[in-house]
Amino acid sequence: MTTIIDGNAIADQIRDDVSDCTDRLASDGVTPGLATVLMSDDGASETYVSMKQQACAEIGIEGYHHEIDADEPAEELYDRIEELNEDPAVHGILVQMPVPDHVDKRTVLESIDPMKDVDGFHPENVGRLVAGNARYKPCTPHGVQKILAATGVETEGKDAVVVGRSDIVGKPMANLLIQYGEGGNATTTICHSRTRNLAERTRSADIVIAAAGVPQMIDGSMLSDGTVVIDVGINRVDADNEKGYELVGDVDFESAAEKASAITPVPGGVGPLTIAMLMYNTVKAASLQSGVAVDLP
Ligand code: NDP
Repeated sequence: MTTIIDGNAIADQIRDDVSDCTDRLASDGVTPGLATVLMSDDGASETYVSMKQQACAEIGIEGYHHEIDADEPAEELYDRIEELNEDPAVHGILVQMPVPDHVDKRTVLESIDPMKDVDGFHPENVGRLVAGNARYKPCTPHGVQKILAATGVETEGKDAVVVGRSDIVGKPMANLLIQYGEGGNATTTICHSRTRNLAERTRSADIVIAAAGVPQMIDGSMLSDGTVVIDVGINRVDADNEKGYELVGDVDFESAAEKASAITPVPGGVGPLTIAMLMYNTVKAASLQSGVAVDLP
């Protein structure tokens, strides 16, 4: 029996809990505010930002959306971040990645006030995460942790393999898995494009988390029976439909599901959690900045 993990249901539960916290904040006169900044003409980025703003509206978070033309000088973006850092109505700032080539991504991440860095990418927040004292856990890996917990997957003592070492998914994912405490204590291997014998690694794992951005690269032959498979990948591949494309993960779902004890689909797996955890971090930011305590799960 393979459990197909329902990411939407898990995300809905978290959104309900976060919504209770926004009610609690509202009773003390605090409305959490999230500013999204888009400096890109990329259709997928526009979609992601509008999904985030939509989630804000549903949960009781005030959304502030800013768009900067992709060909404006980088200083436009840096200055906008400074303004948002100073704006007391804004508790969280999210600059949608990727930014244009002439913008220095590192400068962007480092200029966001760490208290408002709800993506958790500022070096101060990365350092806190690594030290086991996270302020804002990055949304996607945090969402994966929530999926594992909601599915009853114990990580303690398990062999986890993370495929991908990016700053936004792979590295923070592995860092969460090695921490002491709930959702951690896993023996964790990070794989990447230079890893030799990837299939040997994944076959020896109890938990495989795929975040490589390569469509369907992990198939059933790379897994052992009973593995928990979490597919972070979201890849557009050509398809004979109205849109001309479809979304697939980094896992070949059909063959992997034959081996897995539990598996996330794409779409409907990790994706909904990423947005739910952004709402979570924004409410946490409002709580930390206002001093009004909330009981986040
Ligand atoms: P990046 O491209 O930044 O990183 C990909 C990582 O995978 C790199 O470390 C790369 O290795 C590694 N990799 C690439 N090819 C292979 C291979 N053949 N074997 C082993 N490792 C490989 O991607 P992201 O981390 O940003 O995203 C990963 C995927 O997750 C994408 O599909 C993205 O769309 C999706 N995503 C989904 C989210 C969600 O909400 N569900 C949120 C964020 C991302 P190396 O470092 O050596 O190049």
